[in-house]
Amino acid sequence: MLSQTEIERIDAEAVNAAGRRQPLYAPRKKIFPKRASGQFRRFKWLIMAITLGIYYLTPWLRWDRGPYAPDQAVLVDLANRRFYFFFIEIWPQEFFYVAGLLVMAGIGLFLITSTVGRAWCGYTCPQTVWVDLFLVVERAVEGDRNARIKLDGASWSMGKLAKRFSKHLIWVVIAAATGGAWVFYFADAPTLLVDIFTGRAAPVAYMTIAVLTATTYLFGGLMREQVCIYMCPWPRIQAAMLDENSLTVTYNDWRGEPRSRHAKKMAAAGESVGDCVDCNACVAVCPMGIDIRDGQQLECITCALCIDACDSVMDKTGRERGLISYATLSDYNANMALATAGGTDVIRPARVRDAGGALSGRIAQFHWRKIFRPRTLVYFCAWSLAGLVMLYALLTRDRLEVNVLHDRNPQFVLLSDGAVRNGYTVKLLNMIPEPRVIFLSLEGLPGATMQGVGIDQPEGRSLAVPVDPDRLREVRIFVRLPMERVTGVNERFSFVVEDKASFERDVYQATFNTPEGAR
Ligand code: SF4
Ligand code: SF4
Repeated sequence: MLSQTEIERIDAEAVNAAGRRQPLYAPRKKIFPKRASGQFRRFKWLIMAITLGIYYLTPWLRWDRGPYAPDQAVLVDLANRRFYFFFIEIWPQEFFYVAGLLVMAGIGLFLITSTVGRAWCGYTCPQTVWVDLFLVVERAVEGDRNARIKLDGASWSMGKLAKRFSKHLIWVVIAAATGGAWVFYFADAPTLLVDIFTGRAAPVAYMTIAVLTATTYLFGGLMREQVCIYMCPWPRIQAAMLDENSLTVTYNDWRGEPRSRHAKKMAAAGESVGDCVDCNACVAVCPMGIDIRDGQQLECITCALCIDACDSVMDKTGRERGLISYATLSDYNANMALATAGGTDVIRPARVRDAGGALSGRIAQFHWRKIFRPRTLVYFCAWSLAGLVMLYALLTRDRLEVNVLHDRNPQFVLLSDGAVRNGYTVKLLNMIPEPRVIFLSLEGLPGATMQGVGIDQPEGRSLAVPVDPDRLREVRIFVRLPMERVTGVNERFSFVVEDKASFERDVYQATFNTPEGAR
């Protein structure tokens, strides 16, 4: 176990601390985050591997949909206006499913934020993940914090030039791979990859890759925390979603203050002393350049790296972990009231410790029950309801549809034999990736017959229309009503479409116009 004075004090400054915050247009003050290690860092590595793996590998997953549809598992097929997601195929008129997913993502973000604060920002936001990735490269090439600070301050030499060039080159390669991966979601990935390298891809593909390469390099490599602090609206919005029971990364000053590097001397002098040894380890690892000991700040993305840094210091000094921890405001307030005798005195850490020096059993601790409170339950119910509605709609949706346009001019034609004829444009939607024969028939309008233009079948009340896989087929249909059946009023009837193999069916209510009815 080390004494407070044996713990290395890192010369780290919270460049984005409220008191030192730069004006908006001031040059960025560089941050050199130190490598952290601990349970939260390991968790972040895991999330990073999963999210990057999903992003880069998804376009390469195959999904067999038969010979008439693309075999890419996730594909936004702009040319044919389709979205494929494994076994789901979304047509343009079904875009509400995508809107529903966005609604679910929004409610999910509310749920997560009200429960565990800015977990999205700290672990899964693309900006966080890519900055982390770029920092891995920076550390591998230039070394950890001290080496990078030294290199930054050194005058230009071949060594510095080589390191800087290597770092930026790797960043550009990662940025290009990121932009490249994005376009693979919009075309067959293996084909597009060959086309890109042989110069045969569409100009829009090169432009998209160029723009995304530039933004990834700029945001992940150069701007980093400034994107979160100045560009992203989420830190401002999240404040409305947090309440006193939301978990956030908290410096527990009720046990940490007064901070000192000379605890023994202070204790010998009868002065109160807290657990914080003022080593600045928490400041040095912070990718946002803040000091969590200044309290809750808009800049804090709750990445929890300061928890890891402080826990390792607490391990070395033989104190309990958790001087910086995930805590709720209500627990923090209760513990602060304990340490200050209800706010009547300054913090005296002895009040939160028992006679043996261990943390008192009266300290408020987070309990999982706090997750299940009315606010989170309402969010969860809304999220589940949206999911169930979407699932129901998805499972019961039609894959066969009929739409009909009645000729407006002329509304009817009087034939030489006295019969009346109406013209329609019937649109048959075959929404599966297989060809099928769709039976179109008339329901109602007794005595009427129909004939399809380009369909070589005798006039009758039913037609068999072949439709290509995943296609819409338009058929001109003329419905004829013999003179003796004309009633003198416009009559309602139905076009019925059926797939006799799958028993799918759809009906369209239409009107048959007559000369009398038109008067
Ligand atoms: S203060 Fe801690 S949790 Fe917040 S951004 Fe910095 S390291 Fe992450
Ligand atoms: S809070 Fe922990 S890591 Fe930060 S200065 Fe104090 S002891 Fe060091």
